[in-house]
Amino acid sequence: MTSRRRFITLFGGTFGTSLLLAGCLGNPPDRSGSSGTAPKPDAAAAAKLETTTVKLGYIPILEAAPLVVGVQKGFFAKHGLKVELAKQASWPAARDNVVLGSAGGGIDGGQWQSPMPHLITEGIITDGKKVPMVVLAQLISQANGIAISNSLKAENLGLDLSRSVDVFKRFPEKQGRKFRAAYTFPNANQDLWIRYWLAAGGIDPDKDIELLTVPSTETLQGMRNGTMEAFSTGDPWPFRIVTDDIGYLAALTAQMWPAHPEEFLGMRADWVDKNPKAAVALVKGLIEAQQWADKPENRSEVAKLISSRAYFNTPMEVLEPALKGQYLLGADRKPVKDPKLGPIYWMSDRGVISYPYKSLSLWFLVESLRWNMHPGKLTTIEQARALVDKVNREDIWRQAATELGLPTKDIPTGSSRGKETFFDGIVFDPENPQSYLNSLKIKR
Ligand code: CA
Repeated sequence: MTSRRRFITLFGGTFGTSLLLAGCLGNPPDRSGSSGTAPKPDAAAAAKLETTTVKLGYIPILEAAPLVVGVQKGFFAKHGLKVELAKQASWPAARDNVVLGSAGGGIDGGQWQSPMPHLITEGIITDGKKVPMVVLAQLISQANGIAISNSLKAENLGLDLSRSVDVFKRFPEKQGRKFRAAYTFPNANQDLWIRYWLAAGGIDPDKDIELLTVPSTETLQGMRNGTMEAFSTGDPWPFRIVTDDIGYLAALTAQMWPAHPEEFLGMRADWVDKNPKAAVALVKGLIEAQQWADKPENRSEVAKLISSRAYFNTPMEVLEPALKGQYLLGADRKPVKDPKLGPIYWMSDRGVISYPYKSLSLWFLVESLRWNMHPGKLTTIEQARALVDKVNREDIWRQAATELGLPTKDIPTGSSRGKETFFDGIVFDPENPQSYLNSLKIKR
């Protein structure tokens, strides 16, 4: 029932139309010189690959850091690959560019919210055009949150909304419209996080509030001028909202579901089929970049690398705190400094983050069923399982990890990370998604 969700932009931009190349910003020349120093591909390694070039799209949020690190620290080059990173203006632009493919002036793959690769594979978010994709790795865990406008400072919304239900349900009688919450792309992570948070507190995201799709660049202004009250987003946007004194951080996704799946490296399946060795080399470079980026002593350099004009073009001061797990939480801006609440690129308390567990991708599709997001197109658990089986290529990840000589304890052998427990005590058992669905009070 997409009519329940408004697909709009608030400040006159177009949305959902083919942005194609107009939506691909490329990377402007970096006057600081840092992008010109990327190492060249190793010739011996390159000689073994079907192709030595690959074009990946990215969105300038912390999820993309391992891709930038992989290029700038030479991890992709070490395995023979020249990775070209193309900044995408928005998630719809990334989607449209992967449908084009690099041969058509678009991209071969890149960074994705989940389950975008699965939905693109089935043609569900591409006007019926099926472009088979594969998920090769997870890029990051955590580093997302829910920001609330300062207009609701007195309400001090937090992780547990059960005592704040009236703030949402009585909003229309006070303000003349429903409470509005925004995300940057519907039916994926940030939509699913804010729905989970609201529903866990007893608020029905389809009935009690209004959900909006808004490009991230427009959210600061939207929150400042009172167009929306909440924004579900990735770092560094929550930091900007807090430091610009527009709003406050109500909850971190790290609090909702520690070590949760966040964004992924996904490629066109035809690129992987045509270039199987290059696909393994890509994952090898990514794994090494994630290991490097995960080290606390490297986080300042991660901030410096991604901040450059060639990539995020964002001051390092905006990027560094979240990379170190430093946040100001709640309306009273309580400082927290806990790397366990910040981005995780490689190793968590739940094991390796990079591995593309089928059980974790399954959750996103089960959540799509919970909210009946794709009626007539994605309607059963069996269908969800079959789609994950097709798209998640754990085998390629394992081959890359084995060729890198990783210790066996860091190479998962199965497709399940086991049961997942959320902050409200709800358990997702990948062996029994129906019992998870049955346990949820608010659903379609
Ligand atoms: Ca995200």
